[in-house]
Amino acid sequence: MEKINDVFGSMVFNDAVMKERLPKATYKALKESIETSADLTMDVANVIAAEMKNWALEKGATHFAHWFQPLTGITAEKHDAFISPNGDGTVIMDFSGKELIKGEPDGSSFPSGGIRATFEARGYTNWDPTSYAFIKEKTLCIPTAFCAYGGEALDEKTPLLRSMDAVNKQALRITKLFGMDDVKRVITSVGPEQEYFLVDADVAAERPDLLYCGRTLFGAKPPKRQELDDHYFGAIKPRVKAFMEDLNNELWKLGILSKTEHNEVAPAQHEMAPIYTETNVSLDHNQLTMEILKKVAKKHNMVCLLHEKPFAGVNGSGKHTNWSISTDKGENLLNPGKHPENNKIFLLVLSAVVQAVDDYQDLLRVAVASAGNDHRLGGNEAPPAIISMFLGDDLTRVVDSIISGVPLDARKSSVLELGANVLPSFQQDNTDRNRTSPFAFTGNKFEFRMTGSEQSIGDACFVLNTIVAESLEQYADKLEAAEDFDKAIDELIKDVLTKHQRIIFNGDGYEEEWVAEAEKRGLLNLTSTVAAAPYLAAKKNIELFKKHGIFSEVESMARYEIKLEEYSKIINIEALTMIDMAKKDIAPAVSSYSAELAATAISKKELGVNAKAELEVLTKISDLAAVLNDKIATLESAVIKAGEFELKEQADFFHDTVIPAMNELRLVADELETLTAEAYWPFPGYGDLLFSVQ
Ligand code: ADP
Ligand code: MG
Repeated sequence: MEKINDVFGSMVFNDAVMKERLPKATYKALKESIETSADLTMDVANVIAAEMKNWALEKGATHFAHWFQPLTGITAEKHDAFISPNGDGTVIMDFSGKELIKGEPDGSSFPSGGIRATFEARGYTNWDPTSYAFIKEKTLCIPTAFCAYGGEALDEKTPLLRSMDAVNKQALRITKLFGMDDVKRVITSVGPEQEYFLVDADVAAERPDLLYCGRTLFGAKPPKRQELDDHYFGAIKPRVKAFMEDLNNELWKLGILSKTEHNEVAPAQHEMAPIYTETNVSLDHNQLTMEILKKVAKKHNMVCLLHEKPFAGVNGSGKHTNWSISTDKGENLLNPGKHPENNKIFLLVLSAVVQAVDDYQDLLRVAVASAGNDHRLGGNEAPPAIISMFLGDDLTRVVDSIISGVPLDARKSSVLELGANVLPSFQQDNTDRNRTSPFAFTGNKFEFRMTGSEQSIGDACFVLNTIVAESLEQYADKLEAAEDFDKAIDELIKDVLTKHQRIIFNGDGYEEEWVAEAEKRGLLNLTSTVAAAPYLAAKKNIELFKKHGIFSEVESMARYEIKLEEYSKIINIEALTMIDMAKKDIAPAVSSYSAELAATAISKKELGVNAKAELEVLTKISDLAAVLNDKIATLESAVIKAGEFELKEQADFFHDTVIPAMNELRLVADELETLTAEAYWPFPGYGDLLFSVQ
C-alpha cells in the first residue's frame, strides 16, 4: 500500500506543484490575479498552460477538458486530446493559455431556462483558478464556470463565486469596523456530509426503477428494515470496507479530504464526510465525490444510490451542509469564544445569520427543493419543510438575555461553569442534541440539514452567502454612520434578535404541534417543490440577487423555469417507468401465478382434495389484478394529460394528479407482491435489495 502522504493530491496541480514548477514571476502573477480577481495576461496563461500540460503528460494524461457543472446536477466535460499536427505527419503535444482560460462547448443540450433558446446555442466555460486542475482518467480536468453566449450563468459555480465575492465585500466592511485591518478576505467554508446506499450490482440490475430513476417505485415492506437500529455506526462489512478504502484512495489522489466514514441508520446506508474547505472548492470536491462513489462502487460490483429516497419506509439520504465564515487570518467569525455575550463580532455575525434565515426562508427552502428531496423533507427522518434555527441552550440563554435586557446568570451557564477551554463545551452542548432542526448551530458553524444527498450543494451555498451578505450590508450601512459605535452595535444586535426570534426553535421539529406553532409564528411551510419554486420568481428575491450581483432578472427567471422543468421531467420518467414495469412485468407475473393457482385448484378438485387455499388467494389476486389494470390506465391517461400543460401548470399537474396516481398504482402492486409466490415475482424485493451486500 502506498503511503497516504504520497497518494494525497498526487493527481492535483495544486499550490505546491505550481510553486515548484512555475517560474517565480508566473506563480506570483497567478496568485495576484486570484487575490484581486483580475484577468491574467495571455503570456502568463501560456506559461501556466505549458507547465500544466507537461505535468499532466508526466502523469500519463492524453486529453484535457474544461470541467463544469451545468444545471443537470452532475458535471460535464468535453475531452480534447493534447495532440496538434506538426505539418509533417507527426504531432506535438500542445495546450495553450487560450485553451486553459476559455472553452466553447456547444451548450445547446444543457438546461438553460430559455436563456439560449432564441439566439445562440454556444456557451462559454471560464477557468476558475481558485479550484485546482486535476487528472481524472487520463484527462487533465480544468474546473470552469459555464455561461451562455451573453454571459448569463448556466451552472452552479458562477453564482457561487459571485456570492463569495458578495459576502466577502460586506464582511470586510464589518471586520474593518472592528479594527481588524489586517484582514484582506473573508471566506465561507463548507463541509458536506454525504450519505448514500450500496446495493449489489447484480441485484440492482434486475430493477428497472433503480436503473432509470435511482429509486424503487415498487416494493412491499420486508420483514426487517431499520427498526432495530443495528446498522447505525455498526461494524462495517468487509465488502463495504474494501469499497471505502478504494474510495478514500481515489478521493485522496484528487486532494479531497475524505475524513469520516460510517454506517448510517438504514441498512445498506453509509456516510462519508470530508474536512471542510472553501465553499467553491468544496462544491467541486462534492461533485467529484459523488462521481467517484458511483465509479468505485461499480468496480466492487455494487451500485451506489445517491437518491434522496431510494426505499419507501426506510430513511432517505441527505447531505448536511456545514457552513462557516472566517477571515483569511484563520479567525472563524462564528466562534463564540469564552464569553459569547461579550463577543460582539460573533453576536453580530450570528444576528446576521438569524436575520438572513428568517428573511429568506423561502430561498433556503427552494435551494433544496427537488422531486427527490420532496420525499424526504417532512417525513420525520429529515428536517421538516419548515425552516427554523436551533441555537442550543447556552446560546439561547445569551440571546434571551440580550432580548430581555436581563444580565446573563453566570451560574446557569454551563459554559462559565466549565471555565477554561470553552469552545468544546459549546460543541458538546449543541452537537447532536437536536437532529430534527433544519438549521442548527453546532459549536462554531451552522449545519444546514435540508440539502438532499443527490443535490449539488451549490444552491444552498450561494443562497446562504447571499442572504448573509444582505444582512451584513444593512449592518455595515448603519454602523458606518453611527456616532457611538459601541452603543449602535448593542442596539443593532438587540433589535435584530428581537425582530427575528420567531425563527429560533429548539424543540422537536418532528412533532405535530410544531407545524401549528410555526404557522402561528408566520413561518413558511413549503411542502413540495411546486410550492417552493415560485419564490425564485418573487420580486423581493429577484431584487436581492440583482443587488448583490448574483443573478440578473433573466438569470433568476431561468432558474425558476429549470427548477420546474426538471421536476416535471423526473416525475414523467418515474411514471413511465412504473407503467412499463406494471404492464410488462407485474401484470404478466401475476397472471402466470394465477394460472398456476387455477390449474392446481382444478386438479385438486378433480382429485376431490380441498382447494380452498388456492381459490382464496386466486380470488384476491384476480380482484387486485383488475384494480391494477385500472390504476395503470389512470396513470397512463394522467401522464398523457400532463403533456398538455406547460411549466408551472405542468409541474402542478404532476404534483396534484400524476403523483397520487403513481401512489395508488404502487399500493396495489405492493399488495400483489405480498400475495405472489417469489418464484413468479419479476423483481428482487426490498429484503433482497437492502441486505444484498453482505
Ligand atoms: P457531525 O455533524 O457528524 O457531528 P462534525 O461536526 O465533526 O460531524 O463535522 C461534520 C462536517 O462539518 C465535516 O465535514 C467537518 O469538516 C465540517 N466542519 C467542521 N467545522 C467546520 C467549520 N468551521 N466550517 C464548516 N464546516 C465545518
Ligand atoms: Mg452532521
